[in-house]
Amino acid sequence: MYDVPIGVFTSIDAGLGVNFDVVCELGVKTIQLHTPRRESRTNDCASAFLYKLNENGIRITAVFLGFEGESYETIEITSQTVGFVPSKTRAARLVEAFEISDFAKLLDVTYIGSHIGFVPHDRRSSEYAEVVETIRSLCKYLQKNSQSLILETGQESVQLLIKFIEDVACNNIFINFDPANLILYGIGEPIEALKMVAKRVRGVHCKDAVATTGTPGVDWGREVPFGQGEVNAEKFIKTLKEIGYKGALTIEREIPEQPERQKEEIGNAINLINSIKTKIE
Ligand code: MG
Repeated sequence: MYDVPIGVFTSIDAGLGVNFDVVCELGVKTIQLHTPRRESRTNDCASAFLYKLNENGIRITAVFLGFEGESYETIEITSQTVGFVPSKTRAARLVEAFEISDFAKLLDVTYIGSHIGFVPHDRRSSEYAEVVETIRSLCKYLQKNSQSLILETGQESVQLLIKFIEDVACNNIFINFDPANLILYGIGEPIEALKMVAKRVRGVHCKDAVATTGTPGVDWGREVPFGQGEVNAEKFIKTLKEIGYKGALTIEREIPEQPERQKEEIGNAINLINSIKTKIE
């Protein structure tokens, strides 16, 4: 038996995650929360939400940053709009990330998740240095709130991500490993990548995908229900146990426009994960 909790990627008023009521109905006890809209990030909202969490025995394992203007429509548009790489929005997003960190602290959350965006490949470029400096500033701010940053995998190779983390050089920067993203972005085989970053993993997404039939890195692969793609769900979860991962297995299924199907497929993923956890010695 691999005794770690199951989680679900959840939204309360914005974003791609599942609705909180559905989490309660599914009986899941941990969530990663997509950051609520700015107007909801108040003391009162935090208190009301904490009350709801306690009432249902649910714990938040991470708050994920999300910003207005981000779009995952194509890989190209993702690179232009997501995270801290686009220079036009970088400074404003850093300030907003500080605000989100403060809000997460009200919720007793110690991990802040983020897509940094496509890390520039040339480590000697000024753009790379600027992104490193931005993430270092974020880590220093999180330190004051006793929080750590977990970077989502997928938009660059794990080799580059490791170099990036070393260049940021803070002791509160780790990884949220999403095996499907490596397939969606055409970066490579997820299990080997997981082993390479093993000691840095503090969160995971149970998400699945099939690779593009077009050009990897240019055309998206396709997200599919967990267990039905190329991740190899059983091997993924077994490997997590082998590397000593003790955090939540957070299911991410981003089809908010089809809530019934989303709930059903998350329910199926819960059953699948439970059966795999039971099988593991
Ligand atoms: Mg993910």
